[in-house]
Amino acid sequence: MKDAREDILGLMPHEIVKRLQEMGEQAFRGKQVINWLYKGVISFEDMTNLPKATRKKLEDKYIIGSVKLLEKRISKNGDTIKYLCLLADHNIIECVVMKYNYGNTLCLSTQVGCRMGCSFCASTKQGLVRDLEVGEMMAQVVMANTHIKQTDERGIRNIVLMGSGEPLDNYSNVIKFLRLVNHPEGLNISYRNITLSTCGLVPKMKKLAQENIPITLSISLHAPNDELRKKIMPVASAYSVDEIIEAGKYFFEKTGRRVTFEYSLIDRLNDNVYDAKELASKIKGFPCHVNVIPINEIEDMPYKRSSESRIKVFVQTLKTLGVQVTRRRELGQDIEGACGQLKRSYLDSLDK
Ligand code: SAH
Repeated sequence: MKDAREDILGLMPHEIVKRLQEMGEQAFRGKQVINWLYKGVISFEDMTNLPKATRKKLEDKYIIGSVKLLEKRISKNGDTIKYLCLLADHNIIECVVMKYNYGNTLCLSTQVGCRMGCSFCASTKQGLVRDLEVGEMMAQVVMANTHIKQTDERGIRNIVLMGSGEPLDNYSNVIKFLRLVNHPEGLNISYRNITLSTCGLVPKMKKLAQENIPITLSISLHAPNDELRKKIMPVASAYSVDEIIEAGKYFFEKTGRRVTFEYSLIDRLNDNVYDAKELASKIKGFPCHVNVIPINEIEDMPYKRSSESRIKVFVQTLKTLGVQVTRRRELGQDIEGACGQLKRSYLDSLDK
C-alpha cells in the first residue's frame, strides 16, 4: 500500500522551511534539513544536528525519497553504470550514469512506461503506467550522485531527461523537478547542463519556452517528413515535422539555447541520402545541432541498425550541406544500458 506520508524530496527549499515552521520549528531547522537531504541521507534519524523530537515529528509526516536501489550494473570499461530502482508501489524504473571527460551525466526516467508508442523504443511496449512524482525524479539524482561521489568527487554534473517516459507528458512535475535540481539550495545544477528530450509535443514545447528555464531542448525527429515519421512514431499524426521545427525555433528565440534534433538511423528506412538531404533543407538557416545514433536493436523489433558505411554517408551528407552534426557515442551496450532495456531484461528474468 502507498505510504500516506509525503515525500520531502519533492518539495522546494522554501516549502520545506514553511512546513517546519508550521510544525513549530524555527526557519534554520528547515535549512538544516535541506542540507542533509541532498547528501543522500535516507532517514531523518541520521539528521544528527536536529533535536530528537523534531526528527520524530518529521518521520511521522514525511518520507525521504521512495526509490530503492534494486540492482546496479557497471559496464566492462566502467564508463556506464545502470541503476535499477524499485518504487514504493513496486513499479520499477531505471537510470544510467555515463562518465564523460567533461563530467558525469545522469540519464533519468520521468514516467513508468510511456504512451507515445514509438515503434523502436523498449520503454513504450507496455504503455504508460503512471507519471513519476517530483520526489521520485529527485531521488534518482540524489541516489546516483551519492553513489558516484564515493569514487569521484565531481558527482553528477549533467542531467538528461532521456530515460523512460515522455517528459512533456508529465509537464508540471517535470517543471518543478527542473527548478528544484537547479535551485542553489537544491542540487544547484545549472540549466545549461540539463537536456530535456521530447518526441515533439508542440504545445508543451512552446509552453516550456516561456518558463524561463534555459535548458537544452532535444527533439526526437528521426525522420525528415511526416509520411516517414508516421511509420515509426504515432505522435507524428498529431504534430507535423514543420510544426515541430517551428516550435524548436520559438524555443531558441525565447531561451537563446540551441536545440538538438535526435536522429536514430534505421537500416534502409530513414538512413537514405535523400533523407539526409531533406532534413538539411528543412533546418537550413536554423542554428541547431543534429545528433545521429544508429538504432539500438531491441527484442521483437523489426528494424536493423544502419551499416557503418550508411551511417558515414548520412553524416557526411549533412555536413556537406552545412548542418552541425555529431555522431553520438553508444555507451553501456554490454549492460543493456540503452533505452529501457535493463528494466525489460530484469522483468523477463522474473517471468522465467
Ligand atoms: N520521450 C522522449 C525521451 C525518452 S527517449 C523522447 O522521445 O525524446 C530518449 C531518446 O532515445 C529519444 O530520442 C528516443 O527516440 C531514443 N530511442 C528510443 N529507443 C531507441 C532505440 N531503440 N535506439 C535508438 N534510440 C532510441
